[in-house]
Amino acid sequence: MNSMRSLFRFTAMPSSWFKQALRKWPTNCPLCHLSASGGELCSACKTDCFDRRQARMLCAICAQDSEGTDHLDCNRPPEGTLICLACQRQGRRQISAMVCALDNTFPAGLLLGDFRQGGQLQLAPVLAGLMADAAQRAWRYAMPHAWVPLPLSHAQLLQNGFSPPQQLAQIVSRQTNTDWHLRWLRLANSDSPTDPIGFEATPDVAGLAIGLVTDVVDTGATVRAAAQALLDAGAKQVMVLAAGCAPKVNESGTIAACSM
Ligand SMILES: [Zn+2]
Ligand SMILES: [Zn+2]
Repeated sequence: MNSMRSLFRFTAMPSSWFKQALRKWPTNCPLCHLSASGGELCSACKTDCFDRRQARMLCAICAQDSEGTDHLDCNRPPEGTLICLACQRQGRRQISAMVCALDNTFPAGLLLGDFRQGGQLQLAPVLAGLMADAAQRAWRYAMPHAWVPLPLSHAQLLQNGFSPPQQLAQIVSRQTNTDWHLRWLRLANSDSPTDPIGFEATPDVAGLAIGLVTDVVDTGATVRAAAQALLDAGAKQVMVLAAGCAPKVNESGTIAACSM
């Protein structure tokens, strides 16, 4: 028995040692190209791009910066969840919570652009790691039951050559120990290429809190349509997890109220 234990220790140790060594392995920061480790952002870029955003007063529903008159909804765990006035005024909504890791503006927008438009797939673990971290901070008492990537249209797939949400979802799944399902949400068949993009979900989502994974949220129209399809198929709630989100800017150049 002791020899078996010794053998297990001998075979298990290299794996954890190897993972720790990889995390400390000197690399260049994918954003500023200065010294970092394990392929991650350097501490300065992580603070600027991720920590500062997560420390802001962000609405739990639309993930946008709150305004001065927002309040804390003390009925929701943990001790109070910020919900902006625009989201409070909304009646029935398709999305019950949203978390974005980064702002899709300079400098983090460079990273998102290199991944999405530049096809730099090696950035997926960095972005997905930040997404998993943000989700676990915001939803630590109520994580989704399963992750589902936002499907792309054929035109988007042809343009990108890959699916950013799918790449991110599978790594977020590993990092949060929560399954992901590629086929639970798909594009709805359409008779005309000019029809707005539509989605349909399988009955597997019934009764579950679904985490919808996407790369960047802009107007929110696409994630709302996808969330509605999940709700129509019986999902209990839909939570959106994005690598980045664009600030909503109105014509006067100021941040507009959210519309989730
Ligand atoms: Zn850096
Ligand atoms: Zn809001």
